[in-house]
Amino acid sequence: MFATLNEKLNAVFRKIKGQARLTEDNIRDAVKQVRLALLEADVNYKVVKKFVSAVQEKALGEEVLKSLTPDQIFIKIVHDEIVEILGGDESEAKIKLNPIPPTKIMLVGLQGSGKTTTAGKLARFFQKNKKDVLLVADDIYRPAAIDQLEVLGKQLKVDVFADREKNDAVTIANDAVKYAKSAAKDVVIIDTAGRLHIDENLMNELINIKNSIQPDEILFVADAMTGQDAVNVAKTFNEMLGITGVILTKLDGDARGGAALSIREVTGKPIKFVGTGEKLDAFEQFYPDRMASRILG
Ligand code: GDP
Repeated sequence: MFATLNEKLNAVFRKIKGQARLTEDNIRDAVKQVRLALLEADVNYKVVKKFVSAVQEKALGEEVLKSLTPDQIFIKIVHDEIVEILGGDESEAKIKLNPIPPTKIMLVGLQGSGKTTTAGKLARFFQKNKKDVLLVADDIYRPAAIDQLEVLGKQLKVDVFADREKNDAVTIANDAVKYAKSAAKDVVIIDTAGRLHIDENLMNELINIKNSIQPDEILFVADAMTGQDAVNVAKTFNEMLGITGVILTKLDGDARGGAALSIREVTGKPIKFVGTGEKLDAFEQFYPDRMASRILG
């Protein structure tokens, strides 16, 4: 994960650690190299600009240059700024359970982003927290997606709500919520349809489901390996639908880290979970501080 970025940033740090005394020029040069490393990692240019000016301002401060360990302070400044662009406050990333169950979570995103797999992973996460979960197959266009969710449900021993007779995603979502109430479920996870590209019909369907069931969370599932494409699609989904957070999948295959480092800043919405493999337990809650340490680690 993020191997390239890790290597490049550590090369910058090694260089400044090697200086007998840090001068303003050394710092300016290091900042320039951090900027290049981020751009090469496919981080959104606006995010890079903001990041770099914050680091530069802090690093050129009196305390750094006068300090006995300016290299350490420089590394800490970069670390703290990465935490900041990843979301800073950890409590933001928590899923707030509705005091009146069930908590309704809608998963949205493009086809292939890992939505259905993530629905299973999220079900397992809540199951581990002793919650009774209902998975809802709300993709009326791809029967295979319903089958896939049913297989996951069996594997996890989680109830799956599906209705192959109805061809209206809003009705299915409503029926599922009604069923969840009657069965006293704690959490309902709705796996919505995805397309290869954003299209108006899909967006309208999602807006109608949202207006009808009033979800507690609308989580955008983003394939980290698609870099800035994932970020741009997340931005559009947020503008049109109003998402409450992001789940980044396939981080295990992402050497660059561009999506991870940009998506929070570009959408203004927190990353809540990350997927780190195909297996159901390859899933973690997202902590900006831990992720920053991994990137620099
Ligand atoms: P959907 O079309 O959005 O529902 O996507 P799927 O859930 O069917 O996932 C598409 C592919 O991505 C499948 O082969 C999954 O196994 C794979 N996948 C999903 N999440 C992850 C992840 O975190 N890491 C890796 N390596 N593969 C993943």
